[in-house]
Amino acid sequence: MALKLFNTLTRSVQEFAPLAATGKHVGMYCCGPTVYDFAHIGNWRTFVFADLVRRTLEFSGYDVKHVMNITDVEDKIIKRVRENKTTLREFTGKFETAFLEDLEKLNCKKPTATPRATEHIKQIIELIEKLIARGVAYKAADGSVYFSIEKYRGCGCCYGQLLKLNLDEMRAGERVASDEYEKESVADFALWKARVPDDGDVFWPSPFGDGRPGWHIECSAMSIKALGETFDLHLGGEDLKFPHHEDEIAQSEGATGKPFVKFWLHGAHLLVEGKKMSKSLGNFFTLRDLLAKDFTGREVRYLLLTAHYRETFNFTLDGLAGAKSALARIKECLEKLVEFLDPNLPHTTVAPDVEIINQFKAALEDDLNISKAWGVIFGWIRDLNRSMSQKDFTSNQAAIAIGTWKTLDLIMGLNFEIKVPARLKENTVEMQGIAPFTGFAAKVEGEESVPHEIQSLVVARMQAKKAKDFKRADAIRDELKAKGWVIEDTAKGPKLKKV
Ligand SMILES: [Zn+2]
Repeated sequence: MALKLFNTLTRSVQEFAPLAATGKHVGMYCCGPTVYDFAHIGNWRTFVFADLVRRTLEFSGYDVKHVMNITDVEDKIIKRVRENKTTLREFTGKFETAFLEDLEKLNCKKPTATPRATEHIKQIIELIEKLIARGVAYKAADGSVYFSIEKYRGCGCCYGQLLKLNLDEMRAGERVASDEYEKESVADFALWKARVPDDGDVFWPSPFGDGRPGWHIECSAMSIKALGETFDLHLGGEDLKFPHHEDEIAQSEGATGKPFVKFWLHGAHLLVEGKKMSKSLGNFFTLRDLLAKDFTGREVRYLLLTAHYRETFNFTLDGLAGAKSALARIKECLEKLVEFLDPNLPHTTVAPDVEIINQFKAALEDDLNISKAWGVIFGWIRDLNRSMSQKDFTSNQAAIAIGTWKTLDLIMGLNFEIKVPARLKENTVEMQGIAPFTGFAAKVEGEESVPHEIQSLVVARMQAKKAKDFKRADAIRDELKAKGWVIEDTAKGPKLKKV
């Protein structure tokens, strides 16, 4: 089965295929934090979602370049810098560091690149110059440069690709200078904002005069620089669809004449205790607020990962308490498994439970059906607990189960520490050298690890046997033999030997 995702651009679930000719490399951009405060739990839902998408792609064997920008200059930041009587770098640096610390606490993989807007002023200016040269941007009387929606549409381009906009109701010549505005006020938006006294020291020289970039152009410039003029995936919270993402498309396609992004993925809103989060309602939480209430990053991550990314999620403190007990169930099972490991057993070749991994993978490939994926995990844990209560549960079964968990956790990212007896470390922990594509690790006694291609064949043969397709299983055995590997079926699972 191939990975399917809901593409906002086509409003449908589509099979994912990367643009790269290698079929392996994927470029993914997620709009990052605006570093003017600590990120709140609604923001974190988006970043944990981006982490899930990345891990799922990696699990499917893709090599992901994950870019997440740091918005370190825009309207809200400048206002705070002024209020705090500080410098831009000093102010944003503090919140950028805090953001990256929190990202780590939530076990999110660090993006491959985290470019800052203020370090891309050159690229931003070049992009604006291109838009002016193409006749879709103009300098207004206030000295700022605006994007002309009318001219853009006049070139046959489509404004309103992510959501339907009633452009005919637009009043010609209307302009908007602020970074955020409502759908009803769709209008020419600022690419470069001329310097005003309130900006203080925050400005850069440009061919259009001193000023600073608009928020939307920052993302176009940084994503194109990092991933090229056309790339695979662009993610963000659904509140960014308009105007931010719509404007990103217009600027990028207006400048390059090429399609900007193949797949747009949007994470849904988050409510807290059933209401829109707001400081006045007392339901506004940063990650730090929750840690101060003795919850852990792992618990918050788990809770955020229990809902499908396209569903509005109601985040509650009771839900977090529930997360605590769900995680305790997993942890307890893993600890029991470790007790079953016999440190005196000889080295054996073990493979994670292919059936469980395939069920889990199939759930995620179905537009990230996370509840189904958790269902597979908790069903498997229930079965394991039942098996462990019977007398004949073996050390080998425990090793297989631990390897299975490590494979599943490549996506869930709960990172429980599993304390395996020292002598067994080589046998079991090395199973982490799992080829993510197959979710399988085989190790030959006393030899280096098995090539990826061979592992895939072993898995394919196990699947064929499970499906009682013995003809295919035999054919694969012959293929392995031709490649110099002999497979032997034992009570403990298939064993490989090099001829
Ligand atoms: Zn953005």
